[in-house]
Amino acid sequence: MGDLRFAPPELRLSDDPRVPAMVETRELSRDYPMPGGAVHAVSDVSVRVGRGQLVALRGRSGSGKTTFLSLVGALDRPTRGSVSVDGLVVSDLPESQLIGFRRRKIGFIFQAFGLMPILSAAENVEVPLRLVRTEPRERDRRIHELLEMVGLGGRANHRPHELSGGEQQRVAIARALANRPDLLLADEPTGQLDSQTGRSIMSLLQQLVRSEGVTAIVATHDPTLIDLADRVIELRDGRVVGGDGPMGAVHFVQSGAPEVPGRPSGAPDR
Ligand code: ADP
Ligand code: MG
Repeated sequence: MGDLRFAPPELRLSDDPRVPAMVETRELSRDYPMPGGAVHAVSDVSVRVGRGQLVALRGRSGSGKTTFLSLVGALDRPTRGSVSVDGLVVSDLPESQLIGFRRRKIGFIFQAFGLMPILSAAENVEVPLRLVRTEPRERDRRIHELLEMVGLGGRANHRPHELSGGEQQRVAIARALANRPDLLLADEPTGQLDSQTGRSIMSLLQQLVRSEGVTAIVATHDPTLIDLADRVIELRDGRVVGGDGPMGAVHFVQSGAPEVPGRPSGAPDR
């Protein structure tokens, strides 16, 4: 499949059968067996996420957001149902293929940043580039470009403890984007930040979705960040309870402009 990320909007329709969804889950379920009975962390979730969208995954603590992201990123396997990413059924892939899939296809961003404390900002961004054996000159060029992209051109040699929380998360975002993933999965990336910094991180993600053509699913329980998303999937007790439309499905008339059946476009939706 060619790179359709930069295709004209009519080829990026999230319900266009010619284009595989960036993420499609079918009756996705994950139970954790526990002595007192199984916990149904994710239950029968069927959603389709089109390309180039910023999707907010909303739900209170314990609603299944982390479990859902782990299943989509193939860090965990479903109990039932399937996940496909860009047409590839990752829930069926053998472990040997998952490492390459995660490294090249997905960028992960975590609440606690997950930077290596002894490495500088530039060296943290370099790690994933080394893992896929990018040649040194291209590596240096890409590191510089990525740090500029997240507004940290002047902080390349700072270690994480010499950076603010918001700056550390920017480094983590640059690192996540290093290998040009198609999909960013962010688990409460603003959870440790004050609300203003959190908003600047969410708008950086929004801007990167626009400029890099990447698709992002961002778990958050901060309602003030939801308006920056193109679309919302809401979980409660592991099930989709809301979002922009039936089963969280939404029709896009053009990139970034959700049109929900039965609601005049431009009307406030959340
Ligand atoms: P969220 O990220 O929305 O807070 P989680 O996906 O972490 O939710 O958890 C969903 C549910 O699954 C919760 O009830 C949680 O207690 C349970 N859970 C999560 N991870 C495990 C695990 N490894 N073993 C057992 N139960 C788990
Ligand atoms: Mg969580």
